[in-house]
Amino acid sequence: MSLGLFRDRFPIKDAGRFEAKYWLPRDGGKVKCILCPQGCEIGEGEAGKCLVRINEGGKLWAASYGKVAAVNIDPIEKKPLFHFYPGHYILSVGGVGCNLSCKFCQNWELVEGLAGVKFLPPQELAELAVKFKSQKNIGVAFTYNEPTIWFEYIVDTARILKEIDLNMKVVMVTNGYISAKPLEELSDYVDAMNIDLKFAKEELYKQISDAYLKPVLSTIKRAWELYKSKGRPFFELTYLIITGVNDTKEEFEKLTDFVAEIDSNIPLHISRFFPHFLMSDRDPTPEKVLFQAYEIAKKKLKFVYIGNIWGNKGEHTYCPSCGEIVISRFGFSTRLIGIKDGMCKKCGEKIFGVFIEENVESNGKILKVIF
Ligand code: SF4
Repeated sequence: MSLGLFRDRFPIKDAGRFEAKYWLPRDGGKVKCILCPQGCEIGEGEAGKCLVRINEGGKLWAASYGKVAAVNIDPIEKKPLFHFYPGHYILSVGGVGCNLSCKFCQNWELVEGLAGVKFLPPQELAELAVKFKSQKNIGVAFTYNEPTIWFEYIVDTARILKEIDLNMKVVMVTNGYISAKPLEELSDYVDAMNIDLKFAKEELYKQISDAYLKPVLSTIKRAWELYKSKGRPFFELTYLIITGVNDTKEEFEKLTDFVAEIDSNIPLHISRFFPHFLMSDRDPTPEKVLFQAYEIAKKKLKFVYIGNIWGNKGEHTYCPSCGEIVISRFGFSTRLIGIKDGMCKKCGEKIFGVFIEENVESNGKILKVIF
């Protein structure tokens, strides 16, 4: 959840006019939110842990509906998604608040609401995405802060976006802390996700993020079942290695085994930590730790990446059969050099993901900062 360190400056103060989904009435005018596993019991006039779902008049309201804090057109690689329309862009929006309270939050100014918000209705957001389609924009990504707490806004925007153009895509960059039913509902609209798996140990989730590991693992397993049965959501995983916190060989092995048991095709991004927020006293992840984790994961998974070190061998996509580089990268700049019709040009192996063209190139720069 937002830590609420700057509560007096948090821009969401009133309940607004959009009723929330996924809540139950409780005695004495209280409500229980069941959107995420935090399961907050919320008294009259109060907000849940995420600070953006407010009880007013014995009803729960999605108080941050449509209130955006950042809008950019980013390379899809920045989410990170490396196997979903690589070389393309996505209109990326973020709001305020979060249902976790990570002490290393990389977007804490946004999450804590320091940036301020403005109202962007779903129709306008959808139209904005379509406007940039000719510049390789594939849709809308809900990102930067935790999108689960924007549930109603995502569903409404996705409906409108797909009514305007069925080919436009919806993406979420999420911590995976969502209840089973809303996840299932989202799978009708959300085409792809990047899900953060923050720790392999239960106690670290509690100590550092005020959450539990099990619900995140359940989300990943369930998302895979939904993907296999409905073709949505396609997803990739991210594991941020924090110096001295989640950087042991045992944790990498545990994490790799968990992913491999679901499917060895699931791409895993091992990401470098830089000192931030309440963990500013830590050193950046040593490169050798990242490469050690990479080698462990590569033994069991087909697609492993190292993020936040530009120009390393762990940025490219290699064919899992012949080892040829099929997509080369430097930072977010991308070239689809060895892939045709979703297959390795050299040996014909099918590469897991969605690739619509060959010879796509992008320079990896943000196309536009809108807000
Ligand atoms: S979405 Fe917010 S209010 Fe609802 S259970 Fe999660 S943290 Fe609590």
